[in-house]
Amino acid sequence: MALKFNCTKCGQQMIIKFLKVGEVAKCRNCNAEITVPANAIKTNEEPKYDEPIPSNAQGHIATAIKDNSRAMGEGAISALRFFAWLNLIAGIIGAIAIWVTMGEVATPVGIGIGFAFLAEGIFGCALLLVICLMAENLIQIRKNTTR
Ligand SMILES: [Zn+2]
Repeated sequence: MALKFNCTKCGQQMIIKFLKVGEVAKCRNCNAEITVPANAIKTNEEPKYDEPIPSNAQGHIATAIKDNSRAMGEGAISALRFFAWLNLIAGIIGAIAIWVTMGEVATPVGIGIGFAFLAEGIFGCALLLVICLMAENLIQIRKNTTR
């Protein structure tokens, strides 16, 4: 939601998004500092890039922080995905190591532990990858709804 009003000095139409009534905006046409009037019209119009720059840019800062936390979320997902594959590799290596070190005396318990490693590697990897996919979808949904 933005506010629309005209510059009292030159009549230039101003649309502001981050300032409230009573705060000072700068006219991009004549550079006059205009107090946002109480009769400013609420509008869904977006300020264009070169619309008056608010003297307090809190809105911009809030947006930047939001984008930053989103990027951190994506970083966490790629770390989790890396961990998923690491888990799979560790499971396979664990299973092979146990089977190899058993040598000649293959006991059912040893074989069982080997399979347990392998199963953990495969299922752990699959589970983590599913979590990654779900998290990515959530981020995508959030992107589409909050712009
Ligand atoms: Zn002006």
